Amino acid sequence: MRTRTFAGWLMLSASLAASPALTQELTPYPGASDIAPPMVHNDHYDLVLEAGKGADIDPAKGYRIDDLGAGAFMVTEGIYQMMIVKTDEGLIVVDAPPPIGDKILKAAEEIAPGAKITHLVYSHAHVDHIGFAAQIVATNPGMEIVAHQETADILARAGDANRPMPTVTFDGIDQPFTLTAGGQSLELNYSGPNHEPGNIEIWHADSQTLMLIDVVFPGWMMWRRMAIAHDIPGVFDLVGSINAKYDFKTLVSGHVGRTGTKADVEAQWAFMTDLHGAAMKALGSTAIAEGMRAEDTTNPWAVFDNFIDRVTVQCVAELAPTWRDKLSGFDVFIYDQCMAMEQSIRVDGPSL
Ligand SMILES: [Zn+2]
Repeated sequence: MRTRTFAGWLMLSASLAASPALTQELTPYPGASDIAPPMVHNDHYDLVLEAGKGADIDPAKGYRIDDLGAGAFMVTEGIYQMMIVKTDEGLIVVDAPPPIGDKILKAAEEIAPGAKITHLVYSHAHVDHIGFAAQIVATNPGMEIVAHQETADILARAGDANRPMPTVTFDGIDQPFTLTAGGQSLELNYSGPNHEPGNIEIWHADSQTLMLIDVVFPGWMMWRRMAIAHDIPGVFDLVGSINAKYDFKTLVSGHVGRTGTKADVEAQWAFMTDLHGAAMKALGSTAIAEGMRAEDTTNPWAVFDNFIDRVTVQCVAELAPTWRDKLSGFDVFIYDQCMAMEQSIRVDGPSL
């Protein structure tokens, strides 16, 4: 049983009164936030903020197309995002998330009736962003699939028929590859390990659109564990640098119901630096094994479970007053973020 806390613990504790030992374990840590910790049933999440909502989606269609200008379009079903670029020869499709699925083909037909999809670009290898690829290939034989070599390596290992191997790859870090087709051009660049090795920036200069997937969450808390980051320092490097690196008006981030802007990147950067600061402060002020019963102090796993819990609880309590009403879903994943930050500082090092 976890030993974290929220106000509901007290009611839960009362319901477990027949088990005094367990009830005692459920005592909240001092100074804990009233936000429900992981693994506790929470029937009352904070409401989504206006800034977290996208424009309406026609329920009859089930998707929305945002015209980004210069032939670029963002397609969303409300939770996932992908991009379509119209060229003189057909369409370039960037990503193929299964939750959007055949609506990708419907959107393509709506954008350019009868046009062939000539290219599919993979932002990265994750199933939830490209798992519909095989079905796009099936209806567009002979099309090229473009990805970074790191993504190709991951896909070769996966051997997943839903994610066909790229036919064109590029390699290296900060060695941009330019994909041109029918008068359109996309610059693809890999900045090094971040969300996943091979996760690239896709830059459409004509519309000043930057597509970067699973790194920035406009108006929202990042998905849990800093969006399942493969390399947390790499994610910090990317979020801290992309506003200076690209002159973008629109960010296609892969998730949530709306596109983002530089202000959304700045807000997430401010959150991430606050998160880092709160975790550093909690690590510096938390004593190992404090308040534990003597028998448990010889169990290093228990000692660090207790230590990490108390660091996390302090980190959450520090951030909640500033960020809870600024980011939708803050309450959902803040324990995860504080725990991931604490772990990263201890193993990757404290520098930002
Ligand atoms: Zn991903």
